[in-house]
Amino acid sequence: MNMTRKDAIALIKVAGYHGDTKTSLRIYTENRVSYAAYSEAYARGGQLKQEGMACTCFECNPR
Ligand SMILES: [Zn+2]
Repeated sequence: MNMTRKDAIALIKVAGYHGDTKTSLRIYTENRVSYAAYSEAYARGGQLKQEGMACTCFECNPR
């Protein structure tokens, strides 16, 4: 049921891409992720968007 740390980091990055602070904080608090790893992943997501990278999440890529 619990997601792996790697999954949690990936989801935080996606939330960062979407500017979704609420979701990222929920994932952070529900998983064993350090604050440093959390803030780094969130910032990285926002950076990818600024660079014009396509999002990799399921919502943006239904297939
Ligand atoms: Zn997305």
